[in-house]
Amino acid sequence: MMRDTVKNPTLRNNWTLSEVQALFELPFNDLLFQAQSIHRQHFDPNSVQLSTLLSIKTGACPEDCKYCPQSNRYDTGLTVEKLLAVEKVLVEAQHAKDSGATRFCMGAAWRSPKKKDMPYIVSMVQGVKALGLETCMTLGMLTSAQSKELNKAGLDYYNHNLDTSREYYGEVITTRTYDDRLDTLENVRQAGIKVCSGGIVGMGETQKDRAGLLVQLANLPTHPESVPINMLVRVEGTPLANEEILDSFDFIRTIAIARILMPESHVRLSAGREEMNEELHALAYFAGANSIFCGKKLLTTALPAADKDMALFDRLGIKKEALQVEQCDDQVEGQLLDQLQLIENDKHFYSAAN
Ligand code: SF4
Repeated sequence: MMRDTVKNPTLRNNWTLSEVQALFELPFNDLLFQAQSIHRQHFDPNSVQLSTLLSIKTGACPEDCKYCPQSNRYDTGLTVEKLLAVEKVLVEAQHAKDSGATRFCMGAAWRSPKKKDMPYIVSMVQGVKALGLETCMTLGMLTSAQSKELNKAGLDYYNHNLDTSREYYGEVITTRTYDDRLDTLENVRQAGIKVCSGGIVGMGETQKDRAGLLVQLANLPTHPESVPINMLVRVEGTPLANEEILDSFDFIRTIAIARILMPESHVRLSAGREEMNEELHALAYFAGANSIFCGKKLLTTALPAADKDMALFDRLGIKKEALQVEQCDDQVEGQLLDQLQLIENDKHFYSAAN
C-alpha cells in the first residue's frame, strides 16, 4: 500500500499543532465518527493485524527511559537475559505463526547493536523471513550502514518510537536526544525498511504533548507504516511507577487522531492492553486501531492471552488480517520446519551470546 504523500495527495504531512489540538477538543462522538469514516476509506473496518513480539535480549539497557523496566538504572526485579540463540528465536517465530501472527517482532534492550551482534541479528531476520512471516526489529539506534545491512537481510519493519512530544521528551529520557531518534528513523527509511514509530501516553504529559507527538509522526516525509500507541504500564521500580492513570477516553482520542492524521498506517494498540477491559478494546478498534500485539508478553510486561483476544474478535465480528508478504518457497519452509522441530525437541539451544 502506497503511503507516499507525494504520490497520494490525500495524505498530509503539514499538520499544525493547533489543528491537532482542535481535534482533541472535538466532542468524543464527533471525533470517533470522523476517525471511523476515514478508517473505512482505507481499511476493512472489521480486520485487525496480529503481531507477536519476542524479547531477544532482555534488560541491562544503559539508557534511562523512565518508563522502562529494562533500564539498568532501575531496580525492577527483571531477570536479565543475554542475546537469545538464533535457533530459539526461530522456534518462537514458528509458534507465533501457528498462533495466527503475520508479523514477528524481535526486541533487544540495547542503546544500539554492536558490530559483534549484527551477524546473529541478520541470521534471525533471514530465518524468520524464511518461515513466511513479516519481520520487524527494535534494537535501539541504527546507523545508515546497519540499516542497509538489515534491509539486505530481509527486514520489513524497524520499530523506533518517538515516545512523546519534543517538548516533553527531556522529562522522560536524557541519554539520547529527540534528534537521535529522528536520525534513526531517517536511516531506516532511506535503507528501504518500513517504519514503525509511535509513542507512549500516560507519562504525565499534557494533551498538547500528545498532539505534539502525533504532529511529529504525521509530518515525517512519509508516514510510518505502523504507529503503536502505548498506554504507560506503571512498573514498580521505574520512576513512572506512581504516575496518575490517564483517562481512558483521552487514550481513545489519541488513537482516533492517529487514525485521522495517518489514514493509511496501521495504528497499533500496544502496551497497557492487560489493564484495558473488552469495552475499551472495542472502542479502540472503532476509533481506528487495526493492529495488536498478541501472545503472552510485550517484551517484559503481560498481554491479554491470545485466546481472550480471539474470543473478543469473535464477539465483535473482527477477523485477523491476512498475511501480506509473499509466502516462502514450500520446500525451503519444509526443510526449515524439520530443522526447527529437531532443535525444539532437543531443547539444548546454542547461546549466541556465549
Ligand atoms: S525503552 Fe529501550 S532504550 Fe529505553 S531503557 Fe528500555 S530497552 Fe533501553
